[in-house]
Amino acid sequence: MSTFRFHGGRHCLNLIATVSRRRTERVERLATPADLGRWFAEAGLVPPDSPALPRTPAVGEPELRQAHVLREAVYELFTASRREREIPPEALAVVNGWAARPGPAERLEAGSGGRLRRVRGEATAETLLAEIARDAVDLLGGPLAARVRECGLEPCTLLFLDTSRSGHRRWCSMDGCGARAKMAAYRARRAAREGP
Ligand SMILES: [Zn+2]
Repeated sequence: MSTFRFHGGRHCLNLIATVSRRRTERVERLATPADLGRWFAEAGLVPPDSPALPRTPAVGEPELRQAHVLREAVYELFTASRREREIPPEALAVVNGWAARPGPAERLEAGSGGRLRRVRGEATAETLLAEIARDAVDLLGGPLAARVRECGLEPCTLLFLDTSRSGHRRWCSMDGCGARAKMAAYRARRAAREGP
């Protein structure tokens, strides 16, 4: 069973991160419909267990294919935007098409003392993909787009939103790629000091 990466800081980036090492062996973490159902739950996109609502929406092969198509389209837009290349029109149409579809239902629940609580209703794979597409529209179309970076450690290739104050975050995660990069730099320095 694949473990998912949630270092991106946004749902659309975390969906892209279900493929890692994109320029080398390409590790696919959404291989089965069950993987996608589990990803929705682990991403926090579906409400916690309740008797009335199944924790994960029903996901079949068609939904898995739709998720792959949306994911790759979002990735293409981020890549073109980061590299200041021409925006691929097919990818744009896929993301805009999903963003125009209805998202998961939300409602208000009354509590005591005039309190109101925002509660998410039942979600389907389609409504969740629409929500992720709108997250991509929000991120790519706003000022934070310039803060989306690719992990600096080859061959990772994960994208993340750099929310650090300095704006110089280099790795998808400090305890994963960051620790490996620092260890590699330390070994290189030591090797250089000790000579051949
Ligand atoms: Zn990384």
